This record gives sequence, C-alpha cells and structure tokens, in this order.
Amino acid sequence: MQLLYEGKAKRLYLTDRPDELLMEFKDDATAFNGLKKTQFKDKGRINKRLTYYFLNLLEQDGIPTHLVRDVDDTHLIVRRVEIIPVEVVVRNTVAGSLAKRTGWEEGRLLSSPIFEYYYKSDELGDPMITQEHIREMRLATVRELNTVRFLASQVNDLLTGFFKKIGIRLVDFKLEFGRLCPQKKDIILADEITPDTCRLWDTETGKILDKDRFRRDMGDVMGSYSEVLGRVAGAVHA
Ligand code: UDP
Repeated sequence: MQLLYEGKAKRLYLTDRPDELLMEFKDDATAFNGLKKTQFKDKGRINKRLTYYFLNLLEQDGIPTHLVRDVDDTHLIVRRVEIIPVEVVVRNTVAGSLAKRTGWEEGRLLSSPIFEYYYKSDELGDPMITQEHIREMRLATVRELNTVRFLASQVNDLLTGFFKKIGIRLVDFKLEFGRLCPQKKDIILADEITPDTCRLWDTETGKILDKDRFRRDMGDVMGSYSEVLGRVAGAVHA
C-alpha cells in the first residue's frame, strides 16, 4: 500500500479506489507540538474503535462523515477528502488554553458553546485565527465556513447528549472537515474523534479520562481510554 500521508497519530494509504483511503491508527502519542512523545500499547486499536463508533453515530443522525467501513483492529476505510487546514475547537467547559488565555476558572460550564478556529501549520504552531483570517487566507469560503460551523454545532449537541448518558462530561474537542473528492464541493466531517482530541471528565468523580493524563503525567492513560471505550461500546450495543 502506498503511504499518502503520515501524521502524529495516524497514517493514510491509497487504495485501489481513487475516492477511498485506508486510515491507520498508530500507538504513538505526542503533545506540545510533538515535543513530548511516547507510545501506548493498544492506543491505535482503542482510538480506531472509538472513531468508528462516533462517526457511525453521527452518520445515523444525519452528519456527513468520511467513514466508509471498518477493516480490522487499527484500520478504517474512509472517503478521500481535501482537508480544510483549520482545526475547529468546540468548548462547553473552561479548560486548557481557554483557561490560560482568559484567566477563567477551569471547570466552569460556559453559558453557551464557544467555537474557535486554529490554522493547521506546524511551522507557525497552529495559531488561533478568526473567520475573517480564514477568508483572507482563502482557507475556506464563507459558504464553507457556515457549513463547518453548523455541522460542528450539531456534532457538539449530539456528542454532548451521548456522553451525558454514559456519565461523561464533554468539556471540549477538536474537529477537522474536508471537501469530498473529486468534486470538492461537499463538506464532510473527517479525521478522528478520540480521547486524543476531546477532553472527557467523569460526571460523578471528575476523573480526567483523556489525553491530559499523558500531557500532565497523571498515569493510567490507557486505563482511562479503555474506560471510555467500555462505556461507549456498552451504550452503542445496548
Ligand atoms: N486539540 C486537539 N489537537 C490540537 C489542539 C487541541 O485535538 O492540536 C483538542 C484538545 O485535546 C482539547 C481541545 O482541542 O480537547 C482544546 O484544546 P486547547 O485549545 O485547550 O489546547 P491544549 O491546551 O489542549 O493544547
């Protein structure tokens, strides 16, 4: 298989179909722009399963995603897209860089969700940008941005509700969108939805169940990811 792209936690390979790619979830974990690196046995398998469950759930609720089908422990077939180089962060509760930037107390529930945009650029360190920057840089059209914003809000509503049922607070998360190839007209949800890209806190105990355990050397990283997978799988198969 020809490798098309290698990221920090995933690889993308060409398939025999021009409109589909094979997505591989790696055990590699990185934080702080790649400065902190390690591997966790089973991370790829857990993150693949979680992404599969979430994208499936979202598809069932009418969100267009790049998911095509499950392959094996660490691989999915996905639709080929041209990624819009903007990370969309949706926040329901104050945490991470929002707390740092504003001085707001970590853990405070926001009165309504906050949407942020970050320019995907390793060289610049993924700076936060506004919709006007996105337009000026021609990263996306106004129409595309409206779709992205609408879909991100729907994803937030659906995921927040789902996590609530399994005793988890969806604090914040990151999404990426792409233009469906080859026409590049339709915007669909791409990438992954995992504890690498979401902040997840146990509703009862407040226990952190996401990548912050790795970022902050809290230990039990894979135990927490497994806990999330167990609850998600339980709800999906109920
Ligand atoms: N996030 C991500 N990839 C990034 C940056 C952030 O998946 O490159 C996620 C992160 O896991 C969290 C949310 O986006 O769930 C908000 O992250 P924040 O801006 O607080 O940045 P952090 O301090 O986590 O880098």
